[in-house]
Amino acid sequence: MSKRDYYDVLGVSKNASEAELKKAYRRLAMKYHPDRNTGDKAGGNTEQKFKEAKEAYEVLSDAQKRAAYDQFGHAGVDSSMGGGGGPGGFSGGASFSDVFGDVFGDIFGGGRGGGSRVHRGSDLRYNLQLSLEDAVAGTSVKIRVPTQVTCNVCKGSGAKKGTSPKSCSTCGGHGQVRMQQGFFSVQQTCPTCRGKGTVIDDPCTACHGVGRVQQHKTLSVKVPAGVDTGDRIRLAGEGEAGEHGGPAGDLYVQVAVKEHPIFSREDNHLFCEVPIGFVTAALGGELEVPTLGGKVMLKIPAGTQSGKLFRMRGKGVKPVRGGPVGDLLCRVMVETPINLSEGQKDLLRKFESTMEGTGSKHSPHSSSWLDGVKNFFESMGF
Ligand SMILES: [Zn+2]
Ligand SMILES: [Zn+2]
Repeated sequence: MSKRDYYDVLGVSKNASEAELKKAYRRLAMKYHPDRNTGDKAGGNTEQKFKEAKEAYEVLSDAQKRAAYDQFGHAGVDSSMGGGGGPGGFSGGASFSDVFGDVFGDIFGGGRGGGSRVHRGSDLRYNLQLSLEDAVAGTSVKIRVPTQVTCNVCKGSGAKKGTSPKSCSTCGGHGQVRMQQGFFSVQQTCPTCRGKGTVIDDPCTACHGVGRVQQHKTLSVKVPAGVDTGDRIRLAGEGEAGEHGGPAGDLYVQVAVKEHPIFSREDNHLFCEVPIGFVTAALGGELEVPTLGGKVMLKIPAGTQSGKLFRMRGKGVKPVRGGPVGDLLCRVMVETPINLSEGQKDLLRKFESTMEGTGSKHSPHSSSWLDGVKNFFESMGF
């Protein structure tokens, strides 16, 4: 079949702007949309016309395809359209609702067919900062959240005390009006009362006619043991109140765990660094280390090197979603003594003299390190 010129189909000039194209297409789509022409379907060709307009718009709204079409006509774009002009012969047969979504969305406010509009209230988010101790052990906190409550001056009507809302004269109280759009009529939310069916001449001064006022409510949140940064707790129905009697949204409590002066957390393990004296490190001994459950004694074997990691099983975090309890990992850092007296310095010098020539016997790292350095220099030819 021979195809009509795309510009003719849309009824625009060859140099029509993008906005003009969209406007023209929208007008045709409204006119020929099958959803609006159900009675016509059997005999008429509105569906065909709709597809024709859609195809023309798809080509002309795409700068690349439009250029090809301008230069070569239908031959320039047919291959990329899947060939043919018959039903379903373009763009993989996009459904009508797809078109409705992007072109009609702004006209009909995203809702089709009218009817009363019930909106679920918005979900709210509350950022909760917790100490590591509370996050690990679990806690119960009270939070204050802003919320919309029914105005108690007007009892939610929005009208000034002693008055009441009147039935809307534009829509006769239905909240919906029928608008003539080309050949068919469309049901739309009444622009005067915005779908409520009533208008307020004298608004309530407390809520400015809205019928709801903002207040704070205090909620008790049970924080389960083991939560971590990024976890969230859902409080169903504690979000914002719905409009026009719609259900309330949910409240999400977003957990963030504060930094701890001693412990850091990685998954279910806790880490800490503990300084030890070099005498304890050399001779061995016991060390008091903190855990979130109190102090415990850690046995330090003789000859412990700085940086050694000691694992204390089950002293970490009990995961909130179940599973084995994590460990506490303590890294001991051998501390170099400072501010030594002359007497102390003498003792250390005497001690050092006993170490001379003993090599790897007493200093495992130094001797292997020195060997490494020697090998390095030799390989470099120094
Ligand atoms: Zn009020
Ligand atoms: Zn109205």
